[in-house]
Amino acid sequence: MVDSQIRARGVRDERVLKAMEKIPRHLFVEPALEDQAYADTPLPIGEGQTISQPYMVALMTEAMNLKGHEKVLEIGTGSGYQTAILAELAEQVFSVERIASLAAQARKILDALKYFNVAIRVGDGTLGWKEEAPFDAIIVTAGAPHIPRPLVEQLAIGGRLVIPVGGRFTQELYRVTRLSSDPEDVKKEALGGCRFVDLIGEHGWRH
Ligand code: SAM
Repeated sequence: MVDSQIRARGVRDERVLKAMEKIPRHLFVEPALEDQAYADTPLPIGEGQTISQPYMVALMTEAMNLKGHEKVLEIGTGSGYQTAILAELAEQVFSVERIASLAAQARKILDALKYFNVAIRVGDGTLGWKEEAPFDAIIVTAGAPHIPRPLVEQLAIGGRLVIPVGGRFTQELYRVTRLSSDPEDVKKEALGGCRFVDLIGEHGWRH
């Protein structure tokens, strides 16, 4: 998976590649889909949600530019697979999931794998996690209609927000870097097209 889907497509961050080689992705999918766990595709995880395609996980994680000392926020825990990658690459991970059953299942697997640097909360991640801000990096693993303002406000200066933004069916992946104490002062880089399930919440899609 790492050689043919990720290295071959240009992901170069050795720490990201190592984490993806290490983490057993098949533990994060339903037993019936285990034989497809390393395939080049997202897979259903129940509740109408998906575990992201391995390449997309790698690309987004590389864009966060993590060195190991960071406090990071993830919106959309889902299966917990991306969370485990972040737990390998950063010091502390805070993850928000709106569907309680997915959060509980992810917690179980992350505990079994001994990722004790992860806190998971059930709620609307478009509001961020104010009590724990600021974050060195934030990743949103669901498609947003626009960049949720609370997430930019909760970024440290120099912090990176990686987020798919666009319509219901396709989005553009952006890296938003906060440049100063003014949350309007950001650098926005487009990283390519993508397709995610909806980010649903106060600062996302409303349904
Ligand atoms: N990173 C996940 C993985 O590797 O399994 C993929 C997550 S899936 C593509 C997107 C997740 O975002 C879903 O589990 C969905 O319930 C969640 N989600 C959508 N809107 C949310 C919100 N406002 N707050 C928190 N989670 C949200």
